[in-house]
Amino acid sequence: MRLHDEPAPDPQPGEVLLRVTAVGLCGSDLHWYQNGSIGSTAMDAPLVLGHEFAAVVASGPRAGVRVVVEPADSCGACESCVAGHGELCDDIRFSGQTPTDGALRTWMAWPERLLVELPDRLTDVEASLLEPLGVSLHALDLAGLRPGMRAAVVGAGPIGLLLIRAIRAVGIHDIAATDLLPHRVDAARASGAPSTWLAGKDEPPPLAFDAVFECAGTDEALAAAFRLARPGGRVVLVGIPGSDRTSFQASEGRRKGLTLVFCRRMRPGDLSRAVDLVAAGTVNLRGLVTDVFQLAEGVAAFEALASRRGLKVVVRPGPM
Ligand SMILES: [Zn+2]
Ligand SMILES: [Zn+2]
Repeated sequence: MRLHDEPAPDPQPGEVLLRVTAVGLCGSDLHWYQNGSIGSTAMDAPLVLGHEFAAVVASGPRAGVRVVVEPADSCGACESCVAGHGELCDDIRFSGQTPTDGALRTWMAWPERLLVELPDRLTDVEASLLEPLGVSLHALDLAGLRPGMRAAVVGAGPIGLLLIRAIRAVGIHDIAATDLLPHRVDAARASGAPSTWLAGKDEPPPLAFDAVFECAGTDEALAAAFRLARPGGRVVLVGIPGSDRTSFQASEGRRKGLTLVFCRRMRPGDLSRAVDLVAAGTVNLRGLVTDVFQLAEGVAAFEALASRRGLKVVVRPGPM
């Protein structure tokens, strides 16, 4: 990983210049950093990472407006896009996904239609949490939860913690959560999960859950999700596995008649929903960002991410 100078990008038609203010680092970034790939997509040239970010518009009539950025630039014309599933577009460009440079830089050009204005009460660092909150909202939609149902979250990293807050926001309070790390279990409780346990050490609650969210990307977490799900329940796979394989015990899944749902990023509109929920105070983002670095400290930021010693790591590319 290196830092270098580049000329500021030239906005293309439909684009504006952005001055990036805060970028959240994500488990998917860690896959790029550690493996040079995610699943079957490999990096074959240098790449600027970063897809969870806030910025200030620096060109055009909206110059000066603070925004959060939709990192997925879908084509708008394919069958998936026309059906409202831009996240499944087969001609998509995604910020920080090879070959599209992402937001870990000072200046960036990005389509103006993909910007959502920020309310004043949100800081830039908090705003960098809106994209993962949008992913959480999408995962929640996929779970088909209704009031009175029970939900469990396996893996209490930033996405799991945002999911707990999003689940509470739809009026479900029967939430259980687990992680391998004690500080994340504590954070799950602080995020609103009344029932928590340390994976591999404490006993899980003797309950069956209508929906279980796998947010760790490991076979062990998926096995735990299968155990926690009720017969006929739904398991939503949110985590990204390190290798391109996921395994599970077929007999348990079949015996329970489970429905498995894969969560792919967020849908168009989820980012605006995330902004509205936070602006209304329905979801709060407190206590999630534990580490903030400058752009020149990129290696330290990624090492902090890899160590999992905190929760969310944010990089601020602003002037030093
Ligand atoms: Zn992410
Ligand atoms: Zn498309």
